[in-house]
Amino acid sequence: MPIPLTPDTIRSAPKVLLHDHLDGGLRPSTVIELAEQVGYTDLPTTDVAELTRWFVGSADSGSLERYLETFAHTVGVMQTREGLFRVASECAQDLGADGVVYAEVRFAPELHVEGGLSLDEVVRAVLDGFADGRAIATKAGTPIRVRALLTAMRHAARSREIAELAVMFRDEEVAGFDIAGAEAGFPPTRHLDAFEYLRRENAHFTIHAGEAFGLPSIWEALQWCGADRLGHGVRIVDDITVGSDGEARLGRLAEYVRDKRIPLEMAPTSNIQTGAAEDYLTHPIGVLTDLKFRVTVNTDNRLMSGCSMTSEMVALVDAFGYDWADLRWFTVNAMKSAFLPFDQRLEIIEGTIKPAYERLITS
Ligand SMILES: [Zn+2]
Repeated sequence: MPIPLTPDTIRSAPKVLLHDHLDGGLRPSTVIELAEQVGYTDLPTTDVAELTRWFVGSADSGSLERYLETFAHTVGVMQTREGLFRVASECAQDLGADGVVYAEVRFAPELHVEGGLSLDEVVRAVLDGFADGRAIATKAGTPIRVRALLTAMRHAARSREIAELAVMFRDEEVAGFDIAGAEAGFPPTRHLDAFEYLRRENAHFTIHAGEAFGLPSIWEALQWCGADRLGHGVRIVDDITVGSDGEARLGRLAEYVRDKRIPLEMAPTSNIQTGAAEDYLTHPIGVLTDLKFRVTVNTDNRLMSGCSMTSEMVALVDAFGYDWADLRWFTVNAMKSAFLPFDQRLEIIEGTIKPAYERLITS
């Protein structure tokens, strides 16, 4: 008999997270304490419970643009080495406690230089924080490997510089590069220079595409920019039609994404909050999973979505009746898609993920 799927047992199962924003995952109490330390006075409230509700409530408004507004506060308190170090350390600890064994956490260095830090110093502070959090998580019996993705903002003009930073730190747990921010009006092709540079350097990158914006954004990210993975990619369903016989027909782009095994970094709760999906039951993750796309499950912004890897998995189990084999499939998909050397990916899949799910399925 398999172990029943409950929030506790799902938390205990190894999980892999590829799409999580450092500035979207702070503990509310840390936001308040750091604000006090650095003299940041713009928080809507300094009550932990109220602030927790405020973040989720603002993110629930249904627009990506308003969702992004909540980041003014988290980024506002992440302008010092101490602040960045603490947030990164707690991130690693919290993910470890949630059963995540491997994570790639992203942040935009250019958003953290208002206090006088250089881009290098920002990256260094976060990497040191991750290392600290890993050590604490290991001691707590929840070992985790956390690596960084460096994000450039799609409306800004520093993508080449950030791409160079990602390459410079590639041997120090910086896994790759990402482009984020509001999609409309800022196509990824604005940053071709950065992507061409990364490809010449044999470096990895993912692009936020197909979240608020449709197929053209996904097509550009893949066919012009050469993205290894798609941040969300939810709108790829617009290229799939289901006939009256229940048979799915894939357009050329959807077929390409499926056949090339392009990883989709999907974050159900976040997608619902931003209006990229209506609810869990109709979230494209269901049909894309049925069609065996390379689907992965992610948190995106744990603070704004009030979620964790465990709660995302629980929501999917409730909506689609997924079992342990399905959760293992999402997890192996994510690990296969990680920006980590192949032998190390295999070691985590064979040494950690598969044995743990085997125990959950057969005990
Ligand atoms: Zn994101």
